[in-house]
Amino acid sequence: MIVEQIPIGKMANFGYILGCEETKVGALIDPAFEPEKLILRAKELELDIEWILNTHGHFDHIEGNDVAVKMTGAKIIAHRNAMFYTDLKVDHGDNFKIGNIDVNVLFTPGHCPDEICFFVNKQVIFTGDVLFVGECGRTDLPGSNPREMYHSLFKVLSVIPDDIDMFPGHDYGNSSMSTMGFERMNNYVLKQRTEDEFVEFMNTP
Ligand SMILES: [Zn+2]
Repeated sequence: MIVEQIPIGKMANFGYILGCEETKVGALIDPAFEPEKLILRAKELELDIEWILNTHGHFDHIEGNDVAVKMTGAKIIAHRNAMFYTDLKVDHGDNFKIGNIDVNVLFTPGHCPDEICFFVNKQVIFTGDVLFVGECGRTDLPGSNPREMYHSLFKVLSVIPDDIDMFPGHDYGNSSMSTMGFERMNNYVLKQRTEDEFVEFMNTP
């Protein structure tokens, strides 16, 4: 499996290339701002980009979709709540394949109502704007909900084992990626809190 993390744009976003080495089928994750950069790198890796995966509908994650589709003919996969163009809508628990790679969908709203994480080959998870290295996504935006964020972080992502590599949607931490276990130990938003304590914590500037 190929996983490449590529810094894109001026908002510290990460776009990703996910590729199956056996079939040479590839996907772009959140190809905003500089889709050409991701596609050029995918070409170097000899991947045929058939899919675009979007973690959620904020512009800094989807605004390169149109260009990427034009350049590759790829189909767009996003959550069924997505308000932007998609070819395949998915929901919590759904599985799909990128070549021989298994992708499992986790519905994780709280930052954005259509937010999903992609748990790939039971090895890596792409957490979008739910969980960053040392931080979590904002819950003060339109469509945000700190109670849903609590559920996503402490009930949904809690099933992901400690040794799983975590790739976030932005470069906001001390490192560009982490593991779920390291975040559970060190990320201050994942400290044990009741739901009410978490909501108060998120609502305190
Ligand atoms: Zn966002």
